[in-house]
Amino acid sequence: MSDIALSPVTFDDHFAREFQEMAIPWQADEAPDPRLLVLNEDLAAELGFDPGFLRSPRGLRLLVGNAVPAQSTPVAQAYAGHQFGWYAPRLGDGRALLLGEIAHADGQLRDIHLKGSGRTPFARNGDGQAVVGPMLREYILSESMHALHIPTTRSLAVVATGRQVQREILLPGAVLTRVASSHLRVGSFQYARSTGDIGLLRRLADHAITRHHRSAAGEDGRYLALLQAVLSAQATLVAHWMLVGFVHGVMNTDNMTISGETIDYGPCAFMEGFDPVAVYSSIDETGRYAYRNQPLVAEWNLARLAETLLPLFHEDQEQAVALAVEALEGFRPKYSAAWSVGMNAKLGFRDGLDDGVTSPLVDELVALLQESRPDYTSFFRHLGKAARGQAEPARRMILDLEAFDAWLARWRALMPDADAMDRVNPIYIPRNHLVEEVLAAATGGNTGPLERLMEAVASPYEERPGLERYAAPAPESFGPYRTFCGT
Ligand code: AMP
Ligand code: MG
Repeated sequence: MSDIALSPVTFDDHFAREFQEMAIPWQADEAPDPRLLVLNEDLAAELGFDPGFLRSPRGLRLLVGNAVPAQSTPVAQAYAGHQFGWYAPRLGDGRALLLGEIAHADGQLRDIHLKGSGRTPFARNGDGQAVVGPMLREYILSESMHALHIPTTRSLAVVATGRQVQREILLPGAVLTRVASSHLRVGSFQYARSTGDIGLLRRLADHAITRHHRSAAGEDGRYLALLQAVLSAQATLVAHWMLVGFVHGVMNTDNMTISGETIDYGPCAFMEGFDPVAVYSSIDETGRYAYRNQPLVAEWNLARLAETLLPLFHEDQEQAVALAVEALEGFRPKYSAAWSVGMNAKLGFRDGLDDGVTSPLVDELVALLQESRPDYTSFFRHLGKAARGQAEPARRMILDLEAFDAWLARWRALMPDADAMDRVNPIYIPRNHLVEEVLAAATGGNTGPLERLMEAVASPYEERPGLERYAAPAPESFGPYRTFCGT
């Protein structure tokens, strides 16, 4: 059903029109009884939506894809991907649809996308559905990441569909309305390349340049410049994850964007106790996507992207490979530089300090953290207190006090900027036990705890009275944490 008066916001269908080889027009399942669980009013306003309209019955129909705005052609996007190292030639949106693109207040286009909107031709054995818990999880995690200034897809709303979905037990179904700079993935390029149509591959690369990496456009080797731009964006992104203790959990190439935004929040989590081999995904048995492996996996995924682009780099394959290898060699220095800048900020180092002084301090602190495994988030927040002369809260978290006191003395001699530290070291992150509590309540119909958690994580750096429990690590009784993907 098309409804021109549906919304004042103008949709477009660029991708659906220009990439028909990779887009299957499709309809969302009818939601029998749509009920709004959460609406992101700030994001709605940035996109030009009246939140009052989105809350109305017609707005809800738009949010679940049952009322299709004028000029929108909902499509399931095709993509391929390496999943846990194994190539799957045809993945695609099995339970998702791209509704279309709209202009954000910043002048750039945003994809409006539905997750949990029913089976598509890419559904394979899946039921096409999503349930309330995991969709709210994506809402909470993605909006927290945004508040932490980490590039990410956003969440506009989660609407319960009124349908019961069979998982281990029957659970309430839901649709997440997701907003992204685009849904171009490494896997989108793998799919385009696998068709053998180099014209399609080139158009997709040009589209990615226009949409995300305009600086590459003017260059002679524009496609190599595109690869370099994606390498930079991903190096920065993964450095952000590492600095905040985020474990994505399922870094398959279909879950890695060309824009450099974090996408597809499945079995992800923020680590509590510092643990380089932290894994939260129940299906990641070998720890492929463990915390410390994330930069290496990103590099591996980007090598897959480089392979797909080879024909665009040079007509001579050997020369194309040489160019790709040279570009890929830039990833590690880019990542290390981004991580060091971030770590220096976490430690409150002022500009202009000698790297020969700061870098050993960083390395020694990481070694102390590995040994003591303190709560990662609180430790850095407490270190801000240590910069103000109150070292006890941080000292209580470290085992080797002799080494830590010596470290503190050298660090404090550099006059760390405590206020600057508080602006980069969050106090409120979506801790796993809090997220689980919120999801259980919301699945049972109570969204009060969700609203309170969102209030805390929306301003992660600003300590507020009454929010102490949102800053505290999980109680012992919570036990080891595992999450499940694709549910
Ligand atoms: P994800 O793990 O969410 O990144 O999904 C990997 C692939 O599985 C994508 O092609 C999804 O569209 C598909 N998929 C995940 N869950 C379902 C489902 N319940 N029904 C259909 N397809 C699904
Ligand atoms: Mg995915």
